Amino acid sequence: MNRLIKNAFILIAFLSLASCEKKVEKEEVVITATTGIIADCLKNLLPDEVVIKSLMGPGIDPHLYKPTSADLAKLKEADIVVYNGLALEGKMEEILKNLSKKKPTLAVSDFLDQENLISSKAYTGLYDPHIWFDMELWREGIQGLSDSIYAQQEWELGNGKRSAYLDSLSNLSSWISNNLNAVPEEKRILVTAHDAFSYFGRAYGIRVVGLQGISTLSEAGLKDIENTISFIIENQIKAVFIENIVSPKAIKAVIEGCKLQGYDVELGGTLYSDALGKDGTAEGDYLGMIRHNVNTIMNSIR
Ligand SMILES: [Zn+2]
Repeated sequence: MNRLIKNAFILIAFLSLASCEKKVEKEEVVITATTGIIADCLKNLLPDEVVIKSLMGPGIDPHLYKPTSADLAKLKEADIVVYNGLALEGKMEEILKNLSKKKPTLAVSDFLDQENLISSKAYTGLYDPHIWFDMELWREGIQGLSDSIYAQQEWELGNGKRSAYLDSLSNLSSWISNNLNAVPEEKRILVTAHDAFSYFGRAYGIRVVGLQGISTLSEAGLKDIENTISFIIENQIKAVFIENIVSPKAIKAVIEGCKLQGYDVELGGTLYSDALGKDGTAEGDYLGMIRHNVNTIMNSIR
């Protein structure tokens, strides 16, 4: 009899523990974002209790990224999946399409007006996916995205963290405009490794030349390198830039090519294009990465 009572107690304890665990699991909302840029913004926009994970770490090229089995697990356990859209995650389209049949799968680009998107030069019918470089456009996208998550989860907008973050995006955007407007127009030219900065160029009035196309799928060819060398010499460009997600090989070939023709163009530094810098560094979050890029550009083109 005693043993029976003891067993019953153990069973009750076990059941209550199990139901308790289940409850915690159910209340915890897990969001998996494809890029670190999106994950960082969501951390600043959503309640602190939300668990936000990202697939692509610092320096990872989203155009070429194929999910690992650990990533597939992160996507499977997520309540909501968030991605950039506009084919940035070119190798994940099938996976994202399948996920959208099972759970909310949202693209930042879905919250933007198509009229404000830049058409892709290389791929007819597609848009340039590098929308985070126009901070006002990006603000609109992530605001719309987070609005939809708040509504879906029936969360109250609450504590001001979200609006403070959105304000800091607008403030940084004005800071970029003020800085670049102070540079004479003929010096406002940005030569980089791949075509990631068209939105940046349009938003802040700087002409942008990418050595490689809009995606990193095809490497820069000899012709691209020759054209870029001629452009640099013709326009007396002072500096060119490498990117954290692209091999510096082609940009270095451009610098060498200019030197062979008697023109010295300097390496202006590294820009953070399609991925954040390392965790814990100033470039490890979206605002820091943008600030770093603008400072690096300003130091070299003036
Ligand atoms: Zn890119």
